[in-house]
Amino acid sequence: MDLLLHPATASQLEAVAAHPHAAYIFTGPRHIGKLSAALLLAQRLNCADGGGDGCRGCSLIAAGNHPDVTLVSPTDKASTGIAQVQALQQAVSLTRYDSLGKRVVVVESGDSLTTEAQNCLLKTIEEPPLGTVMILLTEQLTSLLVTVRSRCQVVQFRPLSADRIGTYLRSQLALEADKASHIALLAAGSVGLATSLARDSELYESYRQAELMAERIGRSSRFERLVLAQELAQSSVDVERLVSTLTRDSRRHLRRTAATGDHSSMSEAAVQLRAIERFERHRASNVSLKTALAGLLVEL
Ligand SMILES: [Zn+2]
Repeated sequence: MDLLLHPATASQLEAVAAHPHAAYIFTGPRHIGKLSAALLLAQRLNCADGGGDGCRGCSLIAAGNHPDVTLVSPTDKASTGIAQVQALQQAVSLTRYDSLGKRVVVVESGDSLTTEAQNCLLKTIEEPPLGTVMILLTEQLTSLLVTVRSRCQVVQFRPLSADRIGTYLRSQLALEADKASHIALLAAGSVGLATSLARDSELYESYRQAELMAERIGRSSRFERLVLAQELAQSSVDVERLVSTLTRDSRRHLRRTAATGDHSSMSEAAVQLRAIERFERHRASNVSLKTALAGLLVEL
């Protein structure tokens, strides 16, 4: 497929295009290319030329106007997902416009579907209408019920290596080598995020600030971190971004130490991740940012 994807993901998608099943879960980090891949797959399955090129069907899909391809987006943040599931069910019940192609329904933010919505979805997945391909997009596979997962084929979208992203940024977006490598690191394997960071200087700056702050936290003593927490609560650093940077670093640390079997470093990384979870709970329960940050930084 003509999309920058991890080679394992790309070859899995080739197999899907050749012999599509009725229900898929595309899972992987945000901006990794799940939606683009789903739409590309819809083109492949509906292309008059069999290639997913620039035919009329392909152009209609790209423009979001193909009658057999439906993208179900969340209605609002507080949505339970029932409306999304109903939109999916309605879409799959329609007669296909082009009986040679497939009806493709893509559900964005599968993570936000409640248990009730997922149970409702289950019936459709269990008895899929002929000629239909349903694709659920999720960041966390575990946000879906086991009963839903077990009835879908799972396509994992793996992070790309920093080298591949760096090469892409240099060749496709004409970035200088230094900036390309830096953005490739910040993007943590996601080419969509890398592209946004290359094009949006404000976004880049916000990621860079979070990165610098995370490094500073890593170098500081417990006492220094208490001071930092106060500074942070009043600074322009995006705290959410900082926390996701810290989470990413702790996960990396955990993976690295798990590979080497270094148990004391592993438990250190696990403690950090638990501290981050506690911080998220504090924030959700309206503890002030300053207090929550102080708690987090002392425990890291
Ligand atoms: Zn085409």
